[in-house]
Amino acid sequence: MIAAIKNNFENVFHLFFPNPCLGCGKQLFKGEEILCMVCESELHITPFHQHQYNFVSEKFVGRAKVENATSMLLFAKEGMVQHLMHLLKYQNKPEVGIYLGKKYGELIKKESAYQHIDCIVPVPLHEEKKAKRGYNQSEYFAIGLGEAMNTPVLANGLKRLNLKESQTRKKKFERWKNVEHDFDCPNESLLENKHILLVDDVLTTGATLDSCCSVLNQIKNIKVSIATIAVVMR
Ligand SMILES: [Zn+2]
Repeated sequence: MIAAIKNNFENVFHLFFPNPCLGCGKQLFKGEEILCMVCESELHITPFHQHQYNFVSEKFVGRAKVENATSMLLFAKEGMVQHLMHLLKYQNKPEVGIYLGKKYGELIKKESAYQHIDCIVPVPLHEEKKAKRGYNQSEYFAIGLGEAMNTPVLANGLKRLNLKESQTRKKKFERWKNVEHDFDCPNESLLENKHILLVDDVLTTGATLDSCCSVLNQIKNIKVSIATIAVVMR
């Protein structure tokens, strides 16, 4: 009975306050979320998650140790992917991250490479940047993935160091002269013996993820895999 009332209420609510498609602005039909079917058909999901050796995993060869790496979409200067990334990063639409995460999580959880992930860790933003934006976009992608994969998200698994902290750390680990030390892991014991999925928004050179991995890989018996929303093909 309560469910029926709730359902009716939702229908009436939807009638008076229809959500527009964030791609084309047309009214969404019931069952559609964020994008209408036409706009959603413009998202071409890559097959990278189905292949251990792919364009994304190749970026980490000779760098940080990574089990598996994948990106959901190809980033182009124009088009739906660029539009969604802009909404997610600059237009206060964190729900776009959840939407993409859920969609991708449903796909990758079918692959053996991603079936034994213990927790999901987003690449953190600088505190000032996060305060300005109000949220970390990668964390919302992580939340969507976690929901679909039924896997916990450890939002504070990594911490981004400020310049002073980064320099102190650099001194401490001078043997890695050419490695950037922008990150720290505040709760190492939480990640021991775990296979973690490290997630970010757009993968360009891979330097940020490489820097995260160099910190994570110090943790006892850890495995790190990577998933990003998009990858720049160049
Ligand atoms: Zn649309």
